[in-house]
Amino acid sequence: MKKTGGCLCGQVRYETKAEPMMTGVCHCKNCQKQAGSAFSTLAAFQKTDIEFTGDLALYGDSDTDTGNTVKRFFCGTCGSPLYSQVPAQPDMVYLKTGTLDDTDSFVAMFHCWSSTKQNWVELSPDVPAFPQNPAG
Ligand SMILES: [Zn+2]
Ligand SMILES: [Zn+2]
Repeated sequence: MKKTGGCLCGQVRYETKAEPMMTGVCHCKNCQKQAGSAFSTLAAFQKTDIEFTGDLALYGDSDTDTGNTVKRFFCGTCGSPLYSQVPAQPDMVYLKTGTLDDTDSFVAMFHCWSSTKQNWVELSPDVPAFPQNPAG
């Protein structure tokens, strides 16, 4: 099913051509800072399964546990975070699902970096939670 979304100001828009390969919520400190919120909600797509229009700005986030640079793409006009890319998976796009036009279909398959989640956030016991990155 096609899904559409975009940034707050509408300068960046996107359309997906497939279902996400996985969905998750990231509670790492960097996601909290970038989102200005408690966590990032993410859906992974093959790069070829999502099409962006508009101008994306890029922040290379090197302050990571692994030292790898996470590419964080956002709208340079309104600042909405749109997606992230990690060097180990250059063909994958981790979409920030708060930017979907219809967020009703988002269901998190897991939580990661629960070790740094904010105190008030309560995780459902039915959803697996990893203290750090499940990939290691
Ligand atoms: Zn924008
Ligand atoms: Zn994160």
